[in-house]
Amino acid sequence: MAIPIVGRCFADAQDFLEYLESVTFNLWRPRFVTVHHTGAPDLKTWENWQTRPKPVTDEQWMKNLAVYYATAVPGVKSAWSAGPHFFVTPKNICVLSPPNARGVHAASFNAVSWGVEAVGNFDSEKYEGPVRDNLIDALAVMHIAAGLQPDPFQKGVRGLHFHRDDPQTSKTCPGKKVVKTEMVEAIEAKIAAMTGGDDPSDVVKMAKAKPAQKGVVNTDGLNIRVTASGKAPVLGSLPLGTKVSVLREAMNGNTRWLGIEHEGEPGWVSATFVTL
Ligand SMILES: [Zn+2]
Repeated sequence: MAIPIVGRCFADAQDFLEYLESVTFNLWRPRFVTVHHTGAPDLKTWENWQTRPKPVTDEQWMKNLAVYYATAVPGVKSAWSAGPHFFVTPKNICVLSPPNARGVHAASFNAVSWGVEAVGNFDSEKYEGPVRDNLIDALAVMHIAAGLQPDPFQKGVRGLHFHRDDPQTSKTCPGKKVVKTEMVEAIEAKIAAMTGGDDPSDVVKMAKAKPAQKGVVNTDGLNIRVTASGKAPVLGSLPLGTKVSVLREAMNGNTRWLGIEHEGEPGWVSATFVTL
């Protein structure tokens, strides 16, 4: 027995993005991403797999995991109907459970989030190097592909979640050495880099959060985007006269962007089209 799996691994973030963009979403889609570490295997164990006469490839590991999750171990674990959606190793971003269906990884968040596991035990091992870089790439791609934002955070609703945010677990997952504010910053920087500045040389500079200001949209059909970039995916559009709350600002090259909230949903709009 095994759970349904995708079983594909991508060494390149752009290939992972193309894969996710090819997935058709029907009834279920994620509202945020929940991050885990595997704990076991830790990084040392995973590295030992690579030096065996017959190395355990990441693709093979996905197959093994599919059997593991589907199998009940009396007194230890029950059989699961699915696993986490994604696994990140120092080599690859792998897809275990289908991204367009509910996974099993965090009791409180399964119904509404993607689960991603990074190989390592970041209570004891250092959170750095290729697995850290691949995790940030993977998270940036997930947010771009699903039109999600890692920040702001509202538990169970939106923003980047750690497994330890789940009141139903006592785990430290994804490890005591992983700091969420740092991870959110790294993901936002990667999203900005992947979705492009308005000019190739542009750097997005985030301004510190200010007290919320009120603004009114002064054009019809103002695009709301995932990040402060004219190349970022569009979340929706606002009609002339819409009132918005302005929470943040960013400069992308010479273009000023406003981080807004409209009907509870965050996004970015060009400052030219909002009268404060
Ligand atoms: Zn976890």
